[in-house]
Amino acid sequence: MSQQSRARANAGKSRRRQNRSKICDCCGADVMFCWQCRCGFSMCQSCMYENQWGMTCNGITWECPDCGAQNGYGNQ
Ligand SMILES: [Zn+2]
Ligand SMILES: [Zn+2]
Repeated sequence: MSQQSRARANAGKSRRRQNRSKICDCCGADVMFCWQCRCGFSMCQSCMYENQWGMTCNGITWECPDCGAQNGYGNQ
């Protein structure tokens, strides 16, 4: 007797798509995507692009101006 077939009955039914816009801490713009630090600081892509010369030295990580933590581009 196996009861495993019922375990996944409720999985995969989340079709909720909320428009979660974010506020850029740098320019205050309402954007769909922000780079985010674990401290809560967020920066929109255009600000990141403009400040990239001062935020990153290798193009792989960026330094949070708020707490100084290193955050990676791509996966958070
Ligand atoms: Zn911005
Ligand atoms: Zn930070």
